[in-house]
Amino acid sequence: MKNKTLKYFILMVTILLTTFQVGCKSEEKMVSDSTYMLGTYLQLSVWTSNEAKGMDIIKTAFERIKEIEDKMSANIDESEIGQINQNAGRDYVEVSEETSELIKKAVHYAQVTDGAFDPAIGKLVKLWGIGTENERIPSEDEIRDALSFVDYRKIEFQGENKVKLSEPEMRIDLGGIAKGYAADEVTKIMREKGIKHAIINLGGNVVTLGKKTDGSSWKIGIQDPFEPTGTHMGIIEAHDQTVVTSGNYERYFIQDDKRYHHIIDPKSGYPAENGIVSASIITNSSTDADGLSTSVYVLGLDKGMKLIESLDGVECIIITEDKKVYLSSGLTGRFQIINNSFQIVN
Ligand code: FAD
Ligand code: MG
Repeated sequence: MKNKTLKYFILMVTILLTTFQVGCKSEEKMVSDSTYMLGTYLQLSVWTSNEAKGMDIIKTAFERIKEIEDKMSANIDESEIGQINQNAGRDYVEVSEETSELIKKAVHYAQVTDGAFDPAIGKLVKLWGIGTENERIPSEDEIRDALSFVDYRKIEFQGENKVKLSEPEMRIDLGGIAKGYAADEVTKIMREKGIKHAIINLGGNVVTLGKKTDGSSWKIGIQDPFEPTGTHMGIIEAHDQTVVTSGNYERYFIQDDKRYHHIIDPKSGYPAENGIVSASIITNSSTDADGLSTSVYVLGLDKGMKLIESLDGVECIIITEDKKVYLSSGLTGRFQIINNSFQIVN
């Protein structure tokens, strides 16, 4: 898993560096740094005439991501999410406003998707353990049991920021949305510090801040779901927008020729299987894009596309296992295929 992520990271760096070198003003140089957090590699690149200031801003951004991880990780007992989980079925836990707001946003996506996205998925995520050393196919009984504790309607709120899970075995997991939130927070920091051009890449959650220094849009590659990580099947032009992809090639294991990936269908308790291999969302908020990419992946092509078309300023690219590419109506002319084995069908 780590080797795969490392390879992805190195390829992304190469691609991004190649993209960035075109058209930078001579007085503004790219300053870039990377680290490993949120279970993935993160790379931040800013353009600035003051290299030391650029490095300082990146450091501040990484510290902010660490703060978010420490509050929102389901894997850290002391985190606010960890505390809510440990007090499940018992007590309300007072959390920070940002954690409470993000849980509410996750519940909002659970409501609009009729539970296809569900932040109360924690027990199932732990049971499958995909991407961890404990990954395995659970028994049907285990899945049935875990499923009975996946229900966003049983996340209770009290006052401003108190949260409680009504059943002792319920667990919240914000893995489907918190990376997007972290990307939005980093973007905010960069804007506040006066950065006009930046690429924020939190393990595939990409935010483009401003345009390239030559005034053109950034070109963001969409991963070819069937090829090694870092191989792109198409390019989308974007500026001041985010591109977030959920795919079955990110975290998975294969047993008896069958792929088990990390996006779980809360109706079946098994990895979502509906013909989609990747769903990319393009919009202004990375939090929304993250929630929606996971949502569309679970909803499937028809329901997923219908949801995206109902939202203003949100676009998507859905790739199915037969290499067909479905674009939402606002993407016409903005997305270019670079591998002709894929076919745009609408
Ligand atoms: P997305 O499609 O955005 O999300 C998939 C993830 O969402 C799953 O991994 C699961 O966590 C959750 N999920 C699955 N099905 C659903 C569903 N139906 N509805 C809602 N959510 C669902 N990884 C590690 O290996 N170790 C860590 O310590 C670790 N800590 C993390 C801490 C934080 C705060 C965050 C945000 C992530 C962390 N991760 C960690 C990564 C995390 O486990 C997810 O794998 C990752 O966020 C998935 O992002 P994605 O973009 O690949 O997929
Ligand atoms: Mg997501």
